[in-house]
Amino acid sequence: MVLPMTAASAEAGGGVFTGWVGIDGNRIVLVTERAEEAETFRAAHPDVHRIDGRGRVLMPGLIDTHCHAAMTLQRNRADDIPLMRWLYDHIWPFESKQRPEEVVVGTRLGIAELLLGGVTSFVDMYYWENHCVEPVHELGIRAWLGCNYFDSNVEEVFPQMEEAVARAARSGRVRVAVAPHSAYMVSPENLVRGKEFARRHGLHFMTHVSETQDEMRIIRERYGCSPVEHLDRLGVLDEHTVAAHCVHVDERDLATLVARGVAVSHNPQSNMKISSGVAPVERMVQAGALVTIGTDGPCSNNDLDMWEEMRSASFLQKSATGDPCSLPAYELLKMVTVNGARALGYGDELGVIRPGALADVILIDLQKPHLQPVNELIPDLVYCAKAADVETVVVDGELLVENRRLLRVDLPALYAEAREAVQKIVAR
Ligand SMILES: [Zn+2]
Repeated sequence: MVLPMTAASAEAGGGVFTGWVGIDGNRIVLVTERAEEAETFRAAHPDVHRIDGRGRVLMPGLIDTHCHAAMTLQRNRADDIPLMRWLYDHIWPFESKQRPEEVVVGTRLGIAELLLGGVTSFVDMYYWENHCVEPVHELGIRAWLGCNYFDSNVEEVFPQMEEAVARAARSGRVRVAVAPHSAYMVSPENLVRGKEFARRHGLHFMTHVSETQDEMRIIRERYGCSPVEHLDRLGVLDEHTVAAHCVHVDERDLATLVARGVAVSHNPQSNMKISSGVAPVERMVQAGALVTIGTDGPCSNNDLDMWEEMRSASFLQKSATGDPCSLPAYELLKMVTVNGARALGYGDELGVIRPGALADVILIDLQKPHLQPVNELIPDLVYCAKAADVETVVVDGELLVENRRLLRVDLPALYAEAREAVQKIVAR
């Protein structure tokens, strides 16, 4: 695949260049501004699939580090109500009636939305992930399927996790993660049990951390400390841990997260919608924390649009700190690409446009009124681009979206399946 275009990447230096990018197999093998090098590549690959990138920008695919994709089925079913009533009266009763095949439909719908919005990697956290491995693999997105558990269902979920690990072993792009819901819904014993499972199988560990004031109060009453301190005492925090939210973290918590190499998944729109508070992201960045961005589920967002998350993250920080210099555009681009890749253990192999990197790239159509004129490319992408501007999506060298069309999904059929799934669940 050869793509002549302007490319933007958040690698050190934040390079923007105009030239050609060549992909062979699942890797980027050519990044050049020289026409003769592109010609040599084309000559060596006569059956290459060419994409004209003129008037477009190529960039690394976005990485969503916290999502509950199957909650698409509950989109807009319960809005504008307090968190605990939302969970106890709406979300959890609906989820208790869901069957695995319905979770698969909701997950596929979420992934369709993610891919069309330029997300090439995502971290999920839900039930029945053991049933989702093959369907997710078929859609082609790079995924971490986090098996969510509470104390109440831990004995059911651990065998499912074993099964998911065995199924995912056959897929290079789908990995499994251990995902206890939170320190307030999962006992210390079961948190440690999950971490041991993760270490034994070389998996990531992810959980909701310090999301709301209620959680802070519960953990302090039970354990006499903050959620971060509690998790650290249990020994579950390390560089293979993703902590979602981290809204209410103080300087001591922050020092712990940095020292342990924990990746933070900042979910600004969810935090705003549920009135959780404002995560001190600017402080986190200053302190050297690895901050990434997540959409959270489509019940608290209510879409899976990472472009909106980027913009919201920046504007929310500027508003909360009173400092318009906080979280500049370039930092946001880094969070959704380079930092996401590091959080998921890919180091510099993903989230960059560089020879040798994994070929997860997207093309943005810049020929839109809201993107013109392109005076500065990176702010144009971060502050102006929308999910609907993503035209082409390549994951692991495979073309998944072409001219805004998902190549592996029959969308009208999927919408019908989603409607039917909701009707069945509600009728139970
Ligand atoms: Zn969440």
